[in-house]
Amino acid sequence: PVVYYNGEFIPSSHANVSVEERGTLFGEGVYEVTRVYNAHPFALDEHLERLLNSLRGIGLKDPQTLAAARELKPASAQLLEIHNLAEALVYWQITRGPAQPRSFLYQPNTRPSVLAIAYPTQPINTAGPPPTTTATLLPDDRWANCWIKSTMLLPNNLAYNQAREAGFGAALLQRHGLITEASNANAMFVRDGKILTHPDDGKILNGITRQIVLNHARNLNIPVAEQPLPIAELNTVDEAFLTGTTTHVTPVLAIDDQPVADAKPGPVALQLHHTLMNDINTRCRI
Ligand code: PLP
Repeated sequence: PVVYYNGEFIPSSHANVSVEERGTLFGEGVYEVTRVYNAHPFALDEHLERLLNSLRGIGLKDPQTLAAARELKPASAQLLEIHNLAEALVYWQITRGPAQPRSFLYQPNTRPSVLAIAYPTQPINTAGPPPTTTATLLPDDRWANCWIKSTMLLPNNLAYNQAREAGFGAALLQRHGLITEASNANAMFVRDGKILTHPDDGKILNGITRQIVLNHARNLNIPVAEQPLPIAELNTVDEAFLTGTTTHVTPVLAIDDQPVADAKPGPVALQLHHTLMNDINTRCRI
């Protein structure tokens, strides 16, 4: 496909990615995944704001870099046009850029590498039921700055693939006996009609979908407590579900072979699923 790389629209095979890219050598990069429905990007400004925050989080905050990041928005629109895509996932990535010699010390005049790729994807059926999944509980051995949407995804990928190889659909992560989130989605629980989810205290990625779904819940007068669920209390919850840009609202029917309540999507998850689907319909005029 044609990708956007450092201001140009070029075939991906022609992109001149340096072997000395610090994004590869040191993991110095941040990213976003955004979803386009019916040729309309969903919550794009929220994703751009989070990208700018992530850039500041890895010390890439000079005006040129922030301006280059803002170019991703029009660049994405152009990628959709070039490929004539209505349903797409758009990946954004900014890395610190190539620098010689390889050195821990930042080198002057290093220019960040700015990438956007648009991937075709299947349309969603906004009238249908939510997808469902199962999960296994694994240690959250990520670093202390999970609020940065960093390309350093090794712990996430190890956990996710361990879960999939064991036959589960998702990896739920726990740190010090508290559930933080999933390897690539946020986790929410319902007990006695109240949503419990880990606070945005830096130890989770504050998902754009998480924020949207919590707003929907508040508008629907569903009580929300941003407090982590202890793993010892997993057997007391009535519902569990994941949220994310590609996950939408996905009820978790079992965790480590223990059914969650009656192993059916619960009423709160269903209500939030339908509300999110309506929101997507409204914003993207499906
Ligand atoms: N948490 C993690 C660790 C993620 O990687 C993701 C998305 O990729 C999310 C949560 C969900 O975030 P969003 O709703 O912005 O897609």
